[in-house]
Amino acid sequence: MSIQIDQVNKFYGQFQALHDVSLTIPEGQITALLGPSGSGKTTLLRIIAGLENAEQGRILFGGEDISQLHVRDRNVGFVFQHYALFRHLTVAQNIAFGLESLPKKQRPPKPEIRATVARLLEMIQLPHLANRYPAQLSGGQKQRVALARALATKPRILLLDEPFGALDARVRKDLRRWLRNLHDEFHFTSVFVTHDQEEALELSDQVVVMSHGRVEQVNAPTELYARPESRFVFDFLGQVNEFSGQLRDGRLVQGDAWVRLPESPAGSEAQLYLRPHEVRLTSEPSEQAHFPFCIEAVSLIGSEVRVELKAQGWQSEDVWEVGISHAEFNRRQPRRGDRCYAVPDIGHLFAEGQDQPRTISWGDSA
Ligand code: ATP
Repeated sequence: MSIQIDQVNKFYGQFQALHDVSLTIPEGQITALLGPSGSGKTTLLRIIAGLENAEQGRILFGGEDISQLHVRDRNVGFVFQHYALFRHLTVAQNIAFGLESLPKKQRPPKPEIRATVARLLEMIQLPHLANRYPAQLSGGQKQRVALARALATKPRILLLDEPFGALDARVRKDLRRWLRNLHDEFHFTSVFVTHDQEEALELSDQVVVMSHGRVEQVNAPTELYARPESRFVFDFLGQVNEFSGQLRDGRLVQGDAWVRLPESPAGSEAQLYLRPHEVRLTSEPSEQAHFPFCIEAVSLIGSEVRVELKAQGWQSEDVWEVGISHAEFNRRQPRRGDRCYAVPDIGHLFAEGQDQPRTISWGDSA
């Protein structure tokens, strides 16, 4: 079931929490609502659920306007970060709850409810814990039970608000993978709220970036990462190295640092944004770029080595970060205090007064 959000405005008293939000959430996909605290993600999710009303605008499920429909008639499942399972009910009873509390006419017969619960317990891989109480479960297990409970009534739409927020990194990762597989199998439409860009990029088919109650950009994760349409989205999606300078003779210059630009934009100033994997480290400057640095820190984290760099002879607001492979680390053996140069392969140039960047590729020439 697809969801359409049509020109929704939401006010809390004088404060406008959502500004003219329009959005299509495709059927059978996972959509992430991503943004900083207070950007309106939860408000939008609650409006989709029917837990909150919008002053203006419409919500359509599968093309049908359900804006006036009560939450219980929308057939949506919820999972929240601190979704309190019923403490006095066992895991199996928690999962059965939604079905047991249906009006008599709609309630399936007891054997059918038992079969559904057994199937859901298999699906969340917890059949052996059917008779435990919530207090006897780990955080990850509780969230899986919450998910099974939300799915018991076969909702057309599943809404998740920071579902893994309270869990540790490892459990989060497992649960994400598991939710993804579940989704591929059952094809419900999911919307989840997160402020964690890694979670959004990893789990979803579509990411909606929000800021101050507005939609900034909607894209598939790879597109969003490759082509952020504004400074806000760029800044929000992970680490970025920034170089601000003056445009002079086809170069962007600041202090001792400069980079050649294939085409000079209009204006006298510009900013170049570079992602950590779009920059290489060399011991000599190249003909295309001169970014002198002193190595500040080297950390071996996971699949790559992160090198932190302090600008030498020019000003950078933040320390730069460059990611290199373990093979390169072993070859170069970079150490704290070493001098080196950064050479960009790809950069994103924000010209004066423009919010949309132009992507530059120096290719092999750099
Ligand atoms: P977070 O990641 O911190 O949960 P969010 O992006 O989900 O943030 P919302 O909870 O949707 O943001 O809140 C959006 C804005 O609306 C915030 O400025 C918040 O203070 C305000 N807001 C939310 N609920 C209410 C309310 N019931 N009354 C008044 N203001 C509210």
